[in-house]
Amino acid sequence: MSAAARHPLADVLAGGGDSGRPPLLVDGHTDVPLRLFERPADLGDELADGHVDLPRLRRGGAAALVFALYVPPEMEAEAGRLHALALHDLVREQLRPGELELAVAAGDVSRTAARGAVAVLLGLENGRCLALPGALPRFATLGVRYVTLCHNVSHEWCDAALDEPRHGGLSDDGVKIVREMRRRGILVDVSHASDDALLHALDAVRCPVIASHSSARALCDHPRNLSDGLIRDVARSGGLVMANSAPFFLDAAAARVQRAVAAEWKRRKGGLPADDPQAREALRRELAAAHPIPAVPLERYVDHLLHLVEVAGEEHVGIGSDFDGITDVLSGFEDVSRYPHLAASLLARGLAPRVVRMILGESFLRVLADAERRAG
Ligand SMILES: [Zn+2]
Repeated sequence: MSAAARHPLADVLAGGGDSGRPPLLVDGHTDVPLRLFERPADLGDELADGHVDLPRLRRGGAAALVFALYVPPEMEAEAGRLHALALHDLVREQLRPGELELAVAAGDVSRTAARGAVAVLLGLENGRCLALPGALPRFATLGVRYVTLCHNVSHEWCDAALDEPRHGGLSDDGVKIVREMRRRGILVDVSHASDDALLHALDAVRCPVIASHSSARALCDHPRNLSDGLIRDVARSGGLVMANSAPFFLDAAAARVQRAVAAEWKRRKGGLPADDPQAREALRRELAAAHPIPAVPLERYVDHLLHLVEVAGEEHVGIGSDFDGITDVLSGFEDVSRYPHLAASLLARGLAPRVVRMILGESFLRVLADAERRAG
């Protein structure tokens, strides 16, 4: 058996007739920092909860994951800036040479993989604090490679998909911020942004943008998903739509249950102290138990990926699982050890190994490298 065939993903692709080097799997969106904040853990251990740790990453054959520094939308800009920096500290504590290493450039991922380590790329989820002087340069220096412009609430410079518009897209400051991101080689991530904010951002930067964890609205009508028109717009920019694996973004019945949960969460979260993660977690668990999401199979995720390939083109599709940021998972895609199962499913549905490689991570690395070339 060749060295390549011992890699869990290379093994799967070999079954599809591929004999190349192990694919570089890059999961474009995970909430590991949130997990570390709410439930401290050592990622070197096989954890009994959550979706991500090193033993499972190795079984899944992952080359890199984006760790999103997620800032809750209710935090004001300055509190949010400090929170993101605190999450960054938690991530740094988990890094260890040869096992889990920070990657700040696209080329770092293959070098890290060659050393047998898994790479961590950094994203900032909810860029509200970037209106503060000095915030964007600081996060750029720390190695943040994309910024999700907002979360579920419209803020001072960007409208959210799940909230009322305040600016009809981006404010004038928002336009300046996304242009500054482009100048610094930081990708604009339009997941969570309103449709108008997405179009506005594309127009402002005129370079490849990504949707790091958004699925297809044509298959599951949810405002967090992208219409076929928006998917084409992102693809035309040269960018990427990376499908989210949360069942309620993929399946209509699961989406209905999630809407009921979201409405109750909105009604009751105001009664919780803002700085008490345990209370928030307890409420999340209570609501999840009261409204069980129906089982949704991995195949629904593959449906969305195939739809994206059809609409965007094979070079403009990726994966952004949202692992550690979601409570319910797909049956067959429960955690990062299941990437080979996803690869096998994509092959079984007729995609060529070459296309599966692109979806699993090569296309994301291409867009990242492109942003580095444009910077300066
Ligand atoms: Zn998100």
